Amino acid sequence: MKNNTKYLVTAALPYANNYIHIGHVAGAYLSPDIYVRYRKLKNDDVIFISGSDEHGTAIEMASIIEKITPQEIIDRYHFSNKKAFEDLGIQFDIFSRTSSDIHHKTAQEFFLNLYNKNILVKRSDKQLYSEKEKRFLADRFITGTCPVCGYEEARGDECENCGSNLSPSELINPRSKITGDIPVEKETTHYYFPLGNYQEKLSEWIFSKTDWKSNVINYCKGWFKAGLRDRAITRDLDWGVKVPVEGNDGKVIYVWFEAPIGYISMTKELFIKRNEPDKWKEYWCNKDSRLIHFIGKDNIVFHSIVFPSMLMAHGDFNLPHNIPANEFLNIGGEKFSKSRGNGILVKDIVKEFEPDVIRYTIATNFPESKDSEFTWKDLQSKNNNELAAILGNFINRTVVFAKSKFCNIIPGDKSLDNSDTEILNQFKESAASVSAFYDNFRFRDALSETMNAVRSANKYFNDSEPWKLIRDNKERCEAVIYTCLELCHSIAVLISPVLPFTADKILKILNKDKSDFNWEKIGERVLKSGTELGESLILFPQIEDSQIEKLISESTDSTAVKKTEMPENVIELEDFKKVNLKIAKVIECEKVAKSKKLFKLKLKIGDTEKQIVSGIAEFYNPEDLIGKLIVVVDNLKPSKLMGIDSHGMLLAAKTDGQLKVITVDGEINDGAVVN
Ligand SMILES: [Zn+2]
Repeated sequence: MKNNTKYLVTAALPYANNYIHIGHVAGAYLSPDIYVRYRKLKNDDVIFISGSDEHGTAIEMASIIEKITPQEIIDRYHFSNKKAFEDLGIQFDIFSRTSSDIHHKTAQEFFLNLYNKNILVKRSDKQLYSEKEKRFLADRFITGTCPVCGYEEARGDECENCGSNLSPSELINPRSKITGDIPVEKETTHYYFPLGNYQEKLSEWIFSKTDWKSNVINYCKGWFKAGLRDRAITRDLDWGVKVPVEGNDGKVIYVWFEAPIGYISMTKELFIKRNEPDKWKEYWCNKDSRLIHFIGKDNIVFHSIVFPSMLMAHGDFNLPHNIPANEFLNIGGEKFSKSRGNGILVKDIVKEFEPDVIRYTIATNFPESKDSEFTWKDLQSKNNNELAAILGNFINRTVVFAKSKFCNIIPGDKSLDNSDTEILNQFKESAASVSAFYDNFRFRDALSETMNAVRSANKYFNDSEPWKLIRDNKERCEAVIYTCLELCHSIAVLISPVLPFTADKILKILNKDKSDFNWEKIGERVLKSGTELGESLILFPQIEDSQIEKLISESTDSTAVKKTEMPENVIELEDFKKVNLKIAKVIECEKVAKSKKLFKLKLKIGDTEKQIVSGIAEFYNPEDLIGKLIVVVDNLKPSKLMGIDSHGMLLAAKTDGQLKVITVDGEINDGAVVN
């Protein structure tokens, strides 16, 4: 029976300046694919939307560096990534791109909707302009000295050395990254989205979500605490969606604003292709439709705060029903990061292993509530000890028995008894538990329950001892093997969200079409005695040590799996001793005028007092720090930040995009030496 609920499932739009790696897959692509496949087996009305995010400065910058057009950059990554997803069995209903005409049009309409309602704020301010290049320089096009740590090659948006978020005007000695030209400040006018106006409504909405994952809720709390600010939604750039209001030549809509509208434009495109051009509205506007965004944790703010507030401002569309964000999948402790390029690329790994083996290994390690790890050894062990030993073994021993004892024909079902009904009922119960896990986005639990069902099938085979029955009670033996073949079909359905290619192979082995291939048929009798079976085959060939060792040695060469190895930049104890670390007590703390990032702090260190400037203002209120005991570098060469003297540096660590000051455990006197 079909219910009325519609499911609009989206996966984060991959940025088209790099190849997809398995960290991305674990974060935002495999879980929605499993979810959507499961929904389709339940006959639910579901569509699965994603596509390449193809605008922004990073792509324009890459095109300048490679001396090719932005179009050539995005074509390269879009088509390669699209194929990589297909090879891995990630089955979108549409995987489109934000460079499409329909997306430009949809994004412009969205912009105009807010513009016409006077929601957008127009504001002039000074930005860096290159007279030589005759254009404004966007943040990534500017390099200069970091005001926080003094690194000379800091980017206009971020210092890669100390991790501070920056704006171009904060850089010391800014210059154009492309020509080295020294830019001048020039007035420019931009539109802003008043995000702060939506904070109350947003927080009310988010905190009403009792079934959302805690990582998402906690992340939002952090943002609300800091306070939401107006965000510019236009910028001076060539590559992107043009601002649809006259007098804005040379300006495009900021990619953070325009990209998520891609979910809408791609849904439109899907239904245009299906010749039902208005049907997209049923998924975006009807109250019985559920919008579910699958993302990695680095995308939480855009999907839980920014995009929903845009949708609230627009008013015509549903807000997300859920945002099951994943944490990161690591390799040997290293985060898979696009920018560092140290992941295992999907286009490479699919040449080494069957897609289902990769899917299974990732799914058993989904970083659902905390970061998790991927290793080649684990992939080998999951293939050999679980997929082959449990799943492959059951299918194989059943069909081999049928082939050798019953001429490859599905045997008779005359002597069925309670044990057969029991195991089939057990499968129905398993299907119900797996359903409940999928409904709540608990994919690891769903998979482990699925494998338990396969284990119970093996147990049924063992307990029934068909190898004895074939001598003593042939008719009963037929019924057991018949039941095992039914279980093979149930298993094919049950595993298919995670292992779709294997499910197809099992159907071929059973010589069965897809007429009973749906969730309600798990634990039901669907096969006919007397039907000839197909060819048997080994579903999961063993993965040999030699193959794994080769991959491990390659990845240590290129991708830094360095768990116990020496770090590259080893220092002597002597070097460390040059740094005077001391405990300091914060006695005063205030914001530096005209700076978003900087605090001026007065510290008491034993019987001396000193002033330092620190780039932590976005993450603390001044009063949070006063009275705290912190750790400072006491002998750092003095410097000036925004014209203010700084005589040291406090220690802080970055976690989930937030800087946290290092504090101390228990009572320690200020002035105490740290070593
Ligand atoms: Zn820095």
